[in-house]
Amino acid sequence: MSETCLICDELNGAVSVPGGHLESTNLLAVFQCPILSPVTDVFPGYLFVVPQRHVPGFADLDDTEAAAIGVAITRWSRALEAAGAEHVYVARIGHGVPHLHVHLVPRWPGTPDDVSWTDVDEWPGARRVGAAAAADFVEELRHAVADSSVNRSSDGAD
Ligand SMILES: [Zn+2]
Repeated sequence: MSETCLICDELNGAVSVPGGHLESTNLLAVFQCPILSPVTDVFPGYLFVVPQRHVPGFADLDDTEAAAIGVAITRWSRALEAAGAEHVYVARIGHGVPHLHVHLVPRWPGTPDDVSWTDVDEWPGARRVGAAAAADFVEELRHAVADSSVNRSSDGAD
């Protein structure tokens, strides 16, 4: 599907993403929403969590994929909060591209209270960075996840 699907192209490298994939397994990938012409800067920390399979929505996932995506959403939400986000919005929209991509959108400190969640990346004072700074921030998120405080597993023993 790579000829027609932007998400597949971001998975297979035909479209590069700032700093490379944060996580890539046989089930899913996580990456910074890339710079798409004619936009020349990005909202740092705006992440996509996507299944490797070209399927449109959650209803099309198998349970193994769904579980992995749930863990990834949780893990990278923690990383964004560790990096200073005061809130992380999670959304599936999917009107434009028929390949599931879960949006993780950080609300950075300093965002006025009257800016709605749909505008946190677009209000006039929203953080904007170039490709190099976006890649640096991706690296910061990688370090946050490498920190054990961001990875929490339950062994069933309470
Ligand atoms: Zn696709």
